[in-house]
Amino acid sequence: MKGEEDSMIHKKLFIPGPVEVTEDILKTLSTPMIGHRSPEYSALQESATKKLQQLMYTQNPIILSASSGTGLMEMAVRCTTTKRAIVFSMGVFGNRWFQIAQGNDVPADKHEVEWGQPITPDIVEQYLSTGKYDVATVTHNETTTGVMNNLEELAPVFKKYPDVVWCTDTVSSLAGVKIEVDKLGIDVCVSSSQKALGLPPGLSLASVSEKARNKAAQVKARGYYFDMLLLLKYIEERKFQYPSTPTIPHIFALDYQMDKILKEGLDNRFDRHEKLAGLVQNWARKYFKMFANEKYASKTVTCIENTKGFSVKELNAELGKRGYMISNGYGTLKEKTFRIAHMADMQEKDIQELLSEIDDILKLS
Ligand SMILES: *Cc1c(COP(=O)(O)O)cnc(C)c1O
Repeated sequence: MKGEEDSMIHKKLFIPGPVEVTEDILKTLSTPMIGHRSPEYSALQESATKKLQQLMYTQNPIILSASSGTGLMEMAVRCTTTKRAIVFSMGVFGNRWFQIAQGNDVPADKHEVEWGQPITPDIVEQYLSTGKYDVATVTHNETTTGVMNNLEELAPVFKKYPDVVWCTDTVSSLAGVKIEVDKLGIDVCVSSSQKALGLPPGLSLASVSEKARNKAAQVKARGYYFDMLLLLKYIEERKFQYPSTPTIPHIFALDYQMDKILKEGLDNRFDRHEKLAGLVQNWARKYFKMFANEKYASKTVTCIENTKGFSVKELNAELGKRGYMISNGYGTLKEKTFRIAHMADMQEKDIQELLSEIDDILKLS
């Protein structure tokens, strides 16, 4: 049957998560299990954490959670808001912060910019200067629109309001671009395994500042599974453990992948992402149009306007037969845009291969 044949080809993933995972990493997932209260386990979590602290340029403790990134986004908002949260949104993942606040009965407001545009310092200032808010959330890289906020531009505004807890979603950017958590002053920096980190989905991580932690101590209903203080207590008092059973296979893989990332060199890794982004963006400009404000174009995923009006669904079906998969636009942008991810362990030749297949299918050149 035709359908069966198609499903037998592995499609190389160029979607913005989950990303393609290399064979050697896949193998580390089948490392024999160890007890999660054993010294071996503590040593593993400590080792992975120390390396992550280098990647995140932070001294803050890092929580590893057996959930996808959304879980720790929930932890961040629920555990640190005592007054009111302001959600700065530029798309679907920004809006998710707001849904999380609502679902947890956390008072919140949302400022949503036009899709394709970034959050500017003026917008942040406008809200924080009211004194109404004690938590602010920012999506670093909006995967739906391909917009990457400039955190260096926003940081000075947050520094003016030291009582506000700054939560950032770096799910689709951490390990693809440099994010200097401590220098920027990010209080809770959340990310997931399945994007630029190049691991399978199912693990998330967050660095937590002293300020965020002190705020959490004032919040009574922190929940249980995502109780920031309980998670931190197990890291500190139990020496790098987790209140329930951690996702041990992922942590083996994370520790291994962090060695690979540090061996590649952080700056080399960030440069590679910049190069890959350049390749896709130049191609997008040549044949189509960039959806994002060019000044804030993402270095990990490009959202391209379908100016030729072809069927994105059919393109992806044809790519599938050739062993590739890209992503359609999100929600209302479904056929109006398409997205190509260029993150994790992809190399230039992978991108070139994909683009020439698309050229061939759409007869672009
Ligand atoms: C994928 C993604 C999320 C959701 O992360 P999960 O790990 O699927 O929960 C949140 N924010 C951004 C920017 C994302 O790209």
